This record gives sequence, structure tokens and C-alpha cells, in this order.
Amino acid sequence: TSAHRPPATRTTCGYCGVGCTLDVVTAGGEVTAVLPARDGPVNQGHACVKGRFTHGFLTSPERLTRPLLRRGGRLEPVGWEEALGHVARGLRAALADGGPDAVAAISSARATNEENYLVQKFMRTVIGTNNVDNCSRLCHSPSAAGLTASFGLSGGTDGFDDVERSDCLLVVGANPVEAHPVVGARLLRSVLRGAGLVVADPRAVGLAEHADVHLRPRPGTNVALFHGLAHVLLAEGLTDEEFLRERATGLDRLTELLADYPPDRVADITGVPAADLVTAARLYGEAECPAIVYGLGVTEHLHGTDGVRSLANLAILRGAVGTGRGYGVNPLRGQNNVQGASDMGALPDLLPGYGRVVDPTARARAEAVWGVPVPGRPGLRIPEMFAAARTGELRALWVIGEDVCATDPDANEVAAALDACPLVVCSELFLSETARRADVVLPVASWLEKDGTFVNFDRRFQRVRPAVPPPGEARSDFDVVHAVASAMGAGLGCPTPAAALAECGRLAPAFAGVSHDRLDREGAVPWPCRDPGRPGETKLYRDRFATADGRAHLSAAPYLPPGEHPDDDYPLILVTGRRWAHYNSGSMTRRGANIVLDPVDLLDLHPDDAHRYAVRDGEPVTLESRHGRARLVARIGEQTASGQVFCSFHFPASGVNRLTSGHADTVTSCPEYKVTAVRVIAS
Ligand code: SF4
Repeated sequence: TSAHRPPATRTTCGYCGVGCTLDVVTAGGEVTAVLPARDGPVNQGHACVKGRFTHGFLTSPERLTRPLLRRGGRLEPVGWEEALGHVARGLRAALADGGPDAVAAISSARATNEENYLVQKFMRTVIGTNNVDNCSRLCHSPSAAGLTASFGLSGGTDGFDDVERSDCLLVVGANPVEAHPVVGARLLRSVLRGAGLVVADPRAVGLAEHADVHLRPRPGTNVALFHGLAHVLLAEGLTDEEFLRERATGLDRLTELLADYPPDRVADITGVPAADLVTAARLYGEAECPAIVYGLGVTEHLHGTDGVRSLANLAILRGAVGTGRGYGVNPLRGQNNVQGASDMGALPDLLPGYGRVVDPTARARAEAVWGVPVPGRPGLRIPEMFAAARTGELRALWVIGEDVCATDPDANEVAAALDACPLVVCSELFLSETARRADVVLPVASWLEKDGTFVNFDRRFQRVRPAVPPPGEARSDFDVVHAVASAMGAGLGCPTPAAALAECGRLAPAFAGVSHDRLDREGAVPWPCRDPGRPGETKLYRDRFATADGRAHLSAAPYLPPGEHPDDDYPLILVTGRRWAHYNSGSMTRRGANIVLDPVDLLDLHPDDAHRYAVRDGEPVTLESRHGRARLVARIGEQTASGQVFCSFHFPASGVNRLTSGHADTVTSCPEYKVTAVRVIAS
């Protein structure tokens, strides 16, 4: 029982967006064990290998412990004063050369809410630009855009405790067994209790073997697949007519569009047999309380926002959102705080709490709290920052906790952008691929070494507490942002993380009821939570949707093809994603002094393709696209369909993101990581 546990620091896992509550045991200033909290609201006593065991990076000899400054082409250790002085001079020079919009910052979905709040406040109030973005641009920006357009708010519609009670789960473009293992286990628990399961994913992901039906669409054909399911719902009368009449809009246009998506035509586009499509639609359509859970297989496409919206159509047609007749549409967030980084306004067009920078009322609310004017022109998105750096318009870029040279698409172009930018500042734990190209590298604290909050995938604020101090001279990002502002001769207020969250609540009503004190008492509080005396809302839209007219909006976007297709030169489609033991660029999970799991970067390919291209299991292969080349080790198996290959992006040395293209979601600029035409060459 908990009574037998050693004294520990309670915190929230800093890897994926599930938000497991962990008890961190220390001795002599070092972490000796990480235990999943039995009363953790999401994890209920469970954790995956990442949360439990991959804390060895804390004491890695590769940790950055002093600031580094580039001199004569080499990065050399310097004191904080010298590093901060260089940053301040560089920022002032960029402001003098190009004005506020010549400066940009990429904030971090690994950092706390309070750190993200402070970064965007620094950019807007000290620099005077909206050029601030975070890595949700690269993963769930289509969720924010799509869910907002369909329902009015960017978050998932239902709490996961309810989702788990669903009698039919539609899991789309996600591999929770590997990427969100605690959620994967809870979904499996639902299925073992009798819930129906439809999995839609090109790969035979872990949940697929438990599915009633597994749909394997060709990568890039999601919108057609979802329209096919919607077609069957309409054709077979599996819709909620009262809900559609009273609470939705757009049915006529969608009905007209769906006439073009009968199962046979959808089968031609997607490769999914028409009979399977009908079976899946009936399972979802006839369930009492269906729920949709989805991942980056929906968003990371040329038409990712259309994918989210056409998936949301299914819940609207069924009346399974905002009612007791279903548990809505719920994105699985990849990084630990990708929801919170966006909630806090680390976005070029949105302020904390999602007020639009172009809206004078939203700006006035922020200006009343901050006491300075807020720029009204939307800033640059991450890909636009790199483009502006290449053309010389961007003169200074601060990259916080993202290894953009390893994880952003078309990585050769990203590297060229950083090389062209007169000042690149990088806040990091390790000398990442990005840090290697920076002019100044600032050593910062990890999630186990700092204070604040994260927001998990089902909108719960939870506390983050330091279990050990950061090494050497490393500081929290919170302290570093304050220090840079101070070096610029400016102040940001909010001296503590608790004060920063309190200030955020004053300009973002949806978070006004959340505070560090309350979280210390209650453990977790979901937003919206407008009142410190009332619980937050786990289920959204009970009374009305948050759209201007209070209705859910059906989308009638047609299927459009992806940016790349297989051809004679590049006959295979590469899909990238996560493995169970690693997190993003692997900077933490590859450096465990205690344990390193899955240490080799593998390319999964089907036996037919292995035979066709003379690839042998366990041997090195070269992968080439129109954009670059990578080296991996082949793993032959049937999890990946013939004509497709799969690999992770956890090993920067492999160069996988040199392969991926610049194609991006037409609404949000989210990269199309899931469809790259490649060829494989046996070595
Ligand atoms: Fe939980 Fe995700 Fe951390 Fe694993 S990585 S322990 S599932 S929060």
C-alpha cells in the first residue's frame, strides 16, 4: 500500500500527454526510483517504461551544465552573465535591423504551462511580436483548428474516465499501446469488458488484434474513409435526427457531398474493403455510447484539419457529443504538455485562453493585465520562421526545448535556416542537433527538476514538482526567460510559477478557477474551470457548443489526395511514428545511465517488399526520398502493409527527417509526416 512507500516527491510524467502521476524517490540528491501513484487520476497505479525507468538521463555526463557561446566557430563554456549579455545584444541588434517581427521564439510542449506563459509574454510585451509558436504546430494544430471549427473549443470533448465507459471505441490513426501505453491499457480494459472496437490505421498496431474490425486505409486517404463511414450512417438511418435538428448545422451540404462516397468508391480510394467499412459504421452507429479517440495519423497530413473535421462529423451525425449518448472526439496528445503550451498562448495567432490576436477585445483583456499594447498581426508559424530565416527577414530565433533539426520535416532545410539566422539561441538539456548549430546554448532543467503545471490530453491541470536540483549551473526555463528579459532591461512580473498561473487566469477565464494551491489539494482540475469553488468540466458542450451560433458544425470538405504518391522512382510510402521505449528525438530516453531500451533505429517493412528489394532482416538499409537520405536497420514483418515502410524519429543520427517533405496541412501548416514517397536500397 502507499503507507509502505518511501517518502517521495509527487509529480506528473514529462513524457507523453497521458499525464501519469508519479512518486519520485530520491537519495543523496539523485533519483533512485519512480513509482506510479495508485491514486493518480489517469494512471491509477500504472506507468509505462518511459515514466518508470528512463530517468537515468538526469545524471548523464552529457547533460549541459554551463552556458555555451560560439567563438571562432566553436561552442565554449561561459558564465551566465556573458551568455545573457550576448543574447540581449543579439536581440537588440535584430530589433534594430528588422523590428520586432525579425525576432521569433519556438516555445516548448515539454516545458510547464508557466514557462510557456512567460515565453509568450516576453515575446509579446518585451519584443513586441506575435512570432511565438510551439510544437503543436507539428502534431495537433489540425486538432485545434478542426475541433474549434466543429465544436468551438480546441480540446478533446470528453474526460477519459467517460471514454473508458464507452461501449464502442473508434481508435483512429493512433498506436496507444506503444505511444500512450497507460491509455492503451485502459482502452484494452474496456474492450475486455465487452466494448466494441474499431481500429483505423494503416499498420497492424497493438490494439488491432483485439478489434472487431481493423480498417487499413492507404496513408493519406482518411477523409475519404471518414466520409465513407458517414455515408453508411446516413444511408442506414444510424443518425440522431433530433440532435441534428436541434444542435447541429451543415447537414444538407454534407448529405450532398456524401452521395459521392458510397462504400465501393471509398474502397477504391482507401483500399479498405467495402464490407469492412459497412461493419465498422454499423458498430459505431448502433452503439449506445460510442467514443472516438485519435492520434497523429489523422492530423499529420496535407489535409489534416479536414481529417479532424470529417472525423468529428461522425460524432455529430450520431449525436454522440455534448450529450449522454456518446463520448465525443478525443485527440491523444503526443508531448506531455502540448495541450498546455497552446492553452497558455504560445501560438502566433492566439493569446492565453485562445483569444485571437486579431480580436481587439481579446487584446484589450491581455493589455489590461500586462499594461502594454499587444501586437494585432498574427505572427509566424514554425515553418514560416525557417523560411523567413532563409530569406534574411528573421534575424534572431530562440528555440526552447525542441530539437528542430531532428524532428522537423525536411531537416536539411531547417539546418540551412538556422545557419542563415544571425542569432540562434537554444535552451536545452543536451547538445542536440539544434544546439550544435546555435550561437548561444542555455542549459536548462528537466521535468524532474522544476516547479509548475502541465495539462494532459483530457484537459487536466496537474502539478509538476522538483524531485532533484538541476545539474551544475542549469536553470529552469522559467528562470531563464526572466533572466533574458532582465538582460534586456525589462521585467515580466510573475516572480513565481504560481503567480504566473494566477496571472494567466486573470486574462483567460477558462483557467481562472485553477491555482497551484488548489492543485496541491485536489491533484487535478480539468479546464474549463472558471470558479475556484467549482469543479472543472470533464465533458464539454452539455448545454450548447462554443461556436458563435451554439451549434456543432458539420464539415463538407471533399477528399483531396496527399502531397506525395508512390511512383517508379520512389515506390514505397514512408509513415513515421513512435516506438514504445522512446520519446521524440530520444534526447532523454536514449541517454539512460540506468537503462536504454530499443537502442537501434529500425525500418519496418513487409516480407514482400523485403523480397522485392533484396533486403535482409537485421541488415542496414538506405532509405531515400526526393528530399534526403537516411540509414536504418531493416526489420521484416507484417505489421506494416506491403507498399509502406515505417520508422521512428527517435534517433537523429539516422536522419529520418531529412526524408520528410515540406508538404503541410493547408489550414495549419502541420507537416505531412505520414506520407513520404521513398525507395529502399539494401546495403
Ligand atoms: Fe504515463 Fe505517458 Fe509517462 Fe508512460 S510516458 S508513464 S504513459 S505519461
